[in-house]
Amino acid sequence: MNEKSSPETLQDAITLFADPLVAHTFMAAIVWPDGKPKCAHCGSANVGTFSGKRMVSNCKDCKKQFTVKIGTLFADSPLPLSKWLPAIWLIVNAKNGISSYEVGRALGVTQKTAWFMLHRIRLAMQNGSIVKMGGTVEVDETFRGFLGASCSSSFSSSLGGIMGNQN
Ligand SMILES: [Zn+2]
Repeated sequence: MNEKSSPETLQDAITLFADPLVAHTFMAAIVWPDGKPKCAHCGSANVGTFSGKRMVSNCKDCKKQFTVKIGTLFADSPLPLSKWLPAIWLIVNAKNGISSYEVGRALGVTQKTAWFMLHRIRLAMQNGSIVKMGGTVEVDETFRGFLGASCSSSFSSSLGGIMGNQN
């Protein structure tokens, strides 16, 4: 990886989020802004470390497994964060809008899958959060900024912070 701390191109975003740890860390900062992961099933903070390619953690209270994706609008899709995060990047950076055909081609998914992703991401933009409504999590300012008018700079600074933490 070079010295760049934020994706300038789609290819940068794809490369960056292909690392499960980077994708997990990025999402975790949004889902758990206080830095304390909580079980998606019972809300306990008594959880193990995230590990493996899917970045799975075990809750020490209810004994169930969870990932950062559970509890977000992306939970019910088998698509990995390595597809979702570049898709979000594409959508927030497409000044004139983007079609499901373009997203599909760019990410190597079918048009049908891309249409589903666009739909979910637009829903998240409407909600101002990727976190499902009705949970205990407040509408997230990081993500609001991420998707807002100044999305590019917020995106860069979020990522910059994450990249900084890693080194
Ligand atoms: Zn639990």
